[in-house]
Amino acid sequence: DEFGMLADSLNRMAARLQQDNEQLVKAAEKQKQFYADIAHEIRNPLHTISGTLEMLQLEGLPEEKRGKFLDSARNQAERLNRLFKDLMTLQRSDMQRAFLHKKHVRLRPLVENVGAAFREMAEARGLDFRISGPDVRIYADPGKLEQVFDNLISNALKYTPKGHIEIAWRKDHEDPHWLHCSVSDTGIGIPPQHISKLFDRFYRTDKARSRDKGGAGLGLSVVKSILDAHGLSINVYSQEGQGSTFSFRLPLKPGKNQTISRFV
Ligand code: ADP
Repeated sequence: DEFGMLADSLNRMAARLQQDNEQLVKAAEKQKQFYADIAHEIRNPLHTISGTLEMLQLEGLPEEKRGKFLDSARNQAERLNRLFKDLMTLQRSDMQRAFLHKKHVRLRPLVENVGAAFREMAEARGLDFRISGPDVRIYADPGKLEQVFDNLISNALKYTPKGHIEIAWRKDHEDPHWLHCSVSDTGIGIPPQHISKLFDRFYRTDKARSRDKGGAGLGLSVVKSILDAHGLSINVYSQEGQGSTFSFRLPLKPGKNQTISRFV
């Protein structure tokens, strides 16, 4: 009857409102955590910088110590710089539709260019640094794609004490519109329980150790937000103590995208 129908529809509306409300509460909590994380990540380097400046003001400080304090202040300033760059990228990808400027771009020079800075560091640490793949053009935002490779290679370098780092790509024989890309290392690997949270903002598998290495836990979330904006997904394959491989596909032509991420 009519009352029954009215009651039904009111109940459905109430359930929907409750669901919306729960989602709002969750979003607000997430936002609170996000700001707390940012505050935390800024406070640490600022403390170090102000402490270092105090030390530098001491009279009669030996030249060698002065150099060390200056290095430390520079590192912390660099860390803040990276943090702001990552936050800006995340904010832009959240807010702007025109976040990307896609065009045809040759992949090899792009990767070589990003890799140049890391090759030296890798080789200085006795790591084999390889780049391999055909000379092809892909369709993507070159600046953002550089950031993807930059973050993945920088992680590979941070977490690989010995062996090699390889950036490779090949055509997909089954689907000629796509290129398979990967950044792999023979580093410490990632324990399976962390894999599904790896791309969350500020997530680190080992807080103390990663902070040591200067990471805020934003690198992979930036990678994911850039690939998401392209309609692309990223996969991780990792084994503890053996190494990790981050792989994704890139379109050779406009109009190709895929959205499902797979974590192994
Ligand atoms: P961070 O800036 O701390 O490196 P990321 O978002 O780039 O933050 O990475 C999140 C976490 O994932 C890191 O703290 C690290 O524990 C883990 N991780 C990322 N890449 C690798 C890798 N190649 N090998 C091992 N662990 C990795």
